[in-house]
Amino acid sequence: MDFGRRDFFAGAAALGATVAFGARKSKVRRGGPSLGLEYDHVVIGGGFAGVAASLASARAGAKTCLVERTSVLGGLSTQGHVIVFMPLCDGFGRQVTYGIPEELLRLPMKYSAARPNGFWKNKKGTKAELSSKRYELVFDPGPMMLGMERLLLEAGVEVFYDCDVDGVDMEDGRIAEVRAHCGCDAVRLKANAFTDATGAAVVAERCGAVVNAGIKGNIPGGWYYVVNEKRQVSMRTGAGRFFKKNFPLEARNYRGDSLIDRSLHMQAVHKAILQDNAEENRRLKAEGKSPVHIFSIPTYSTMLKLQKLACGGPEDAIVGIFSDWRKSGPVYPLKFGQLTVPSVSNLLVAGRCIACAEEMWDVVRCLPACCASGQAAGTAAALLAKGGSYAGLDSAALRSSLLASGVKLDDELLVPDPAWKGGDVKEREEGVF
Ligand SMILES: Cc1cc2nc3c(=O)[nH]c(=O)nc-3n(C[C@H](O)[C@H](O)[C@H](O)COP(=O)(O)OP(=O)(O)OC[C@H]3O[C@@H](n4cnc5c(N)ncnc54)[C@H](O)[C@@H]3O)c2cc1C
Repeated sequence: MDFGRRDFFAGAAALGATVAFGARKSKVRRGGPSLGLEYDHVVIGGGFAGVAASLASARAGAKTCLVERTSVLGGLSTQGHVIVFMPLCDGFGRQVTYGIPEELLRLPMKYSAARPNGFWKNKKGTKAELSSKRYELVFDPGPMMLGMERLLLEAGVEVFYDCDVDGVDMEDGRIAEVRAHCGCDAVRLKANAFTDATGAAVVAERCGAVVNAGIKGNIPGGWYYVVNEKRQVSMRTGAGRFFKKNFPLEARNYRGDSLIDRSLHMQAVHKAILQDNAEENRRLKAEGKSPVHIFSIPTYSTMLKLQKLACGGPEDAIVGIFSDWRKSGPVYPLKFGQLTVPSVSNLLVAGRCIACAEEMWDVVRCLPACCASGQAAGTAAALLAKGGSYAGLDSAALRSSLLASGVKLDDELLVPDPAWKGGDVKEREEGVF
């Protein structure tokens, strides 16, 4: 792997910030700010949406930083071992999502043996061949996390880890700066534009925007890795099913809206993993085979849904297109209004916490739509005039900029394949993914 000059300087800049930070520690003890930094665009949250938003704005020329409270990228997906990048195609052989979502889907190919399904590997084949498999990818978390960091640094994004945004200062209906902590060091981040990619609309909520908590609650679905006697590692996804089967009444009770509820949810996930593994080992023993041992469990809350924007702004320009992982056929538009926070003029929301109809949430939360909303938010941030408002953003310019960066927004892509007869979309088992 080539670690070039740029990486060295990016690392040195981050180190410089730490040194400056440390030199002012006495201020931290007094409770005052120790470091102030200024950007065109600050992205809060380094999941897939935040990574896409940061890449898009930095590539469009905006001075961008990404603030992540853990020490790796990918959020729920990588740290929760959610390793299926849902499809970019409609299931009838036609790709509908382009741009950074596709770049991130294919990213692990550079660092691992992960390859897209079937004919999608080379994106060549007849309609019948391409429709025989969906354009999706099963990947491992490590290469994805490392690859994302490479991409961001190469694009000039400043990446801050272990940095938790916990305060927002507003002036005249816009965010002036966000406050964050890294250990006991305090940071103030000023910018012209902000993107909330926290997975739970945390920044929007801090600004007083209305958010919805996870309505139906969350099933405890823990994906984990096991290792066998030959030190070979493989994935298990059965913990959610185990819980559903054995504790059906509790299976959907976790709303994620309190400390107790969130803690109990993860304890339930852990219990389900232990039970699932014990059940597998009982079966293996009965078959005269060696047991498998738990190797790695999710290190991130595996709540499918925390909270999301209750409603976005009125702007309905189409800024992305995505398909339905549950069934071949349906194709949906992503609208700019789903990202806007009506009460805050320089904030967009990206990822699983954008505004959407309740019945659409199960699709919007998946990686293609998360990345598409991130790319749209980052592109818009780079276009936002100094002191401007997203309400006044030129949506034609936003769409042109997205098109120029490889996104496809053709109206025809939104027309479902004639072979789709419509109707119920619940084809794959719901709940586990
Ligand atoms: C069991 C399960 C299975 C799933 N299966 C699939 C699947 O197969 N395919 C698929 O496409 N999707 C799947 N999903 C959904 C998908 O993984 C997530 O919806 C998606 O990863 C969300 O991405 P995001 O960037 O919007 O948010 P997140 O991944 O939640 O990222 C938010 C980031 O923000 C950071 N953050 C939060 N608050 C702060 C703060 N205050 N300051 C700084 N940083 C902060 C977090 O640490 C995190 O890194 C599944 C989810 C679950 C739970």
